[in-house]
Amino acid sequence: MSSHYDVIVVGSGVLGTFHAYHAASFGKKVLLTEKDHYPIQATVRNFGQVVPSGMGSEWFNYGVRGTTIYKEIQSEFDISIRNNGSVYIASDEDEQRLIHELKSMMDSRGYECHLLTTDQCLQRWPVLSKDYCREALFFPQEVSAEPERMIFRLLEYASRKFENLTYKPSTTIIDCTVSGSTVEVVSHRKEKFTAEKVIVCNGGEFKLLFADLFRESGIVTSKLQMLRSAVMKEIPLEGNILTGLTIRRYESFQECPSFATTKTPEHLAELKKWGIHILFKKAADGSIIIGDSHEYADVAHTDDLGFTQNEYINRLMLEEASRIVTFDMNRIAASWSGFYPQHNEKDIVEIDIENKIHIRTAIGGKGMTTSAGYAEESIRKIYHTDDVE
Ligand SMILES: Cc1cc2nc3c(=O)[nH]c(=O)nc-3n(C[C@H](O)[C@H](O)[C@H](O)COP(=O)(O)OP(=O)(O)OC[C@H]3O[C@@H](n4cnc5c(N)ncnc54)[C@H](O)[C@@H]3O)c2cc1C
Repeated sequence: MSSHYDVIVVGSGVLGTFHAYHAASFGKKVLLTEKDHYPIQATVRNFGQVVPSGMGSEWFNYGVRGTTIYKEIQSEFDISIRNNGSVYIASDEDEQRLIHELKSMMDSRGYECHLLTTDQCLQRWPVLSKDYCREALFFPQEVSAEPERMIFRLLEYASRKFENLTYKPSTTIIDCTVSGSTVEVVSHRKEKFTAEKVIVCNGGEFKLLFADLFRESGIVTSKLQMLRSAVMKEIPLEGNILTGLTIRRYESFQECPSFATTKTPEHLAELKKWGIHILFKKAADGSIIIGDSHEYADVAHTDDLGFTQNEYINRLMLEEASRIVTFDMNRIAASWSGFYPQHNEKDIVEIDIENKIHIRTAIGGKGMTTSAGYAEESIRKIYHTDDVE
């Protein structure tokens, strides 16, 4: 096997895999590497909610394009994409005003959405609490993925589809240097690869490559706590279910006229302090994923976030969840922590070294929604052309 490639992608999370996918579909000879036996970071620990409706305006387009790409792939090969829509449930007047404002914004973009009354919501999701659900905004075209399955199926699909794509898991890249007109890449086994370009999609791994650069980058790591219920096939809760605190948090709502003057009611203050907003997603096996919370540390202090679960946060989440739905919140089968990097002033971190090494990381909490669309555009920009050959 030749060890020279057009492009080497470091990291096979959703962002790296879609960079490799699009580069391969543009005819490039691609090597995709992954340090672990298989991806185990944010890409498999998340909700799998694909929600362009929650994105700010520029990233909304990446989300919509990403949804189309997911649907196209799903029509050829099962990557676990289901089209059950997303719903934002408003629990008070302020949240109702925000969903009406978002509807106007989405109508002006021609993006399909419908307001639902309490009765219409209860008909569709009878386990919602009548007291909580005052009105909702439903996006029927949105999809979800099974995070523990999607990336593995996508890697399988891409490896079968593109003869020009090679996937090498268990291959940690420990050095990446521009040398003349190429980039030299070295693995932990001291294998050497060369390429015209290297794209580094390292997710939250900041110690192996460019450690000093990342320390100064302004990147912040977010730790999230997640819960999974026992299998509850009988509970009708299909789709991406997003609730009042999400309406008070997501970027699309931040662009609504009344967002800036919307106050946080007293009973939500403690939840907001821990970055909690309540989302539900019924997984394909019938369990229900419930989350999430957010705690933050800069790159130099990421280790201080720890790996344990703060039970107080889990209790706060379950208490709020039981105001929203009527089924038993005590049947929790698993809990875990997930981590993703983000930048408080940028939607993603893009660093280009000598126009040969292209770092793309810190996509934040929107990577499952936007990576497919963003990576397509990113490959075009890296090759400075609308028509990559
Ligand atoms: C709990 C949680 C819930 C979320 N929910 C959602 C959601 O519902 N919807 C949504 O859109 N987004 C969601 N997100 C965000 C989304 O999961 C992330 O944005 C996305 O997975 C980031 O993908 P990535 O490829 O950048 O990073 P990662 O998934 O971290 O992948 C990076 C990969 O690079 C590899 N790597 C790093 N360094 C090297 C090296 N030197 N050599 C080889 N390999 C290397 C790592 O092993 C890793 O596999 C959530 C995130 C979390 C944590």
